[in-house]
Amino acid sequence: MGLRRSGKSSIQKVVFQKMSPNETLFLESTNKIVKEDISNSSFVQFQIWDFPGQIDFLDPSFDSDMIFGGCGALVFVIDAQDDYMDALNKLHLTVTKAYKVNQNVKFEVFIHKVDGLTEDSKMETQRDIHQRANDDLTDSGCEQIHLSFHLTSIYDHSIFEAFSKVVQKLIPQLPALENLLNIMISNSAIEKAFLFDVVSKIYIATDSSPVDMQSYELCCDMIDVVIDVSGIYGLQEEPEAPAFDNQSSSLIKLNNGTILYLREVNRFLAFVCILREDNFDRQGVIDYNFLCFREAIQQVFVNSIQPNEMACNGETS
Ligand code: GDP
Repeated sequence: MGLRRSGKSSIQKVVFQKMSPNETLFLESTNKIVKEDISNSSFVQFQIWDFPGQIDFLDPSFDSDMIFGGCGALVFVIDAQDDYMDALNKLHLTVTKAYKVNQNVKFEVFIHKVDGLTEDSKMETQRDIHQRANDDLTDSGCEQIHLSFHLTSIYDHSIFEAFSKVVQKLIPQLPALENLLNIMISNSAIEKAFLFDVVSKIYIATDSSPVDMQSYELCCDMIDVVIDVSGIYGLQEEPEAPAFDNQSSSLIKLNNGTILYLREVNRFLAFVCILREDNFDRQGVIDYNFLCFREAIQQVFVNSIQPNEMACNGETS
C-alpha cells in the first residue's frame, strides 16, 4: 500500500517481472485491485495486491476481513523524495485497521526512492519517519504494533534486499535453512552462501555471517548471467522446458582470487556461494557436501509450506 506515485507498481514490476527501472517511468495508471499471483514461477508463493492509493476504510464495500485476514506481510511504500506527512497519516490508519483484523500481519515500511537522497539525508529521513510513525502509534495507545523500516530504491539492489528480509519473516523453516547453510559453509571453506529464489533474486536464506551488499550484488549478477546464457544456449529437449533445471551450475573466477559458484537446488531455488580460489582445490568435497545439503533442503520442504500470502497494495499511476 501507499500513496499515489509512491512507487508500488514500479517495485512489483522490477522485482517480479524483470522490468528495467527506467521503464517504470512509463507505467500506466490503474484504479483497481490487481492481484498478482507469482506462485507458478517462484518458490515464494504469494499474491501482490495493487489497490488504489486512496482507499476509504469506512466505505462498507471495503472488505477489510477479506483483505487483511489472510495477509502475511503488509508492505507500505513511502516516497522519501516527497513530503511524507500524508503518507504517515495513511500508514497509521492502515496498520491500525489491519491489526484489528489480523494481529499476525508483519508491517514493513519501505522508505522508497532514496536514490535521490544523500547518505546524511537518508539517515535523517529514516530517523524522522521512524520517530513520527511510532509516536503516532503510541499516542493512540497502539504501541504493541511493530513496524520494520527499510531504505529502498529500484535503481540498486536495496529493493531486492528489503524484499528478501520481508519474505524471510514469512518462511517458517528459516532457522533450519540457516542452520544447513552454516553447516555447508563451515565444512566446505566457503566465505558466504545464499539460497536464492531464481526468478525474483530474493534470497530466502543465508548463513549467519553478516551480509555485505557487494557480495549480494555479485551473486544477483551471477544469476542474471546464468539465466541469460542458459536461455540462449541451454539445451532444451522439450520446447517448454525451463532453461534453469536440475543440471544447472556455474563457476565464475574473479580477478581477485575469489570464486562464485552456483548450483541448482530445485526448480525455483539456487545455491550461490563465494569462496577463495585456493579452497576450491577440493571441489569434490564441496560437490559432495552440496549433494547432502540439497537432500537436506528437500527434506525440510517435504511437508511443503502452505502458500504465504503477502499483500503489497498500491495504485499504479
Ligand atoms: P504507484 O502509483 O505507487 O504505483 O507509483 P509508480 O510505480 O507508478 O511510480 C511513480 C513514479 O516513481 C514513476 O515515475 C517511477 O519511475 C518512479 N519511481 C519508482 N520507484 C523509484 C525509485 O526507487 N527511485 C526513483 N527515483 N523513482 C522511482
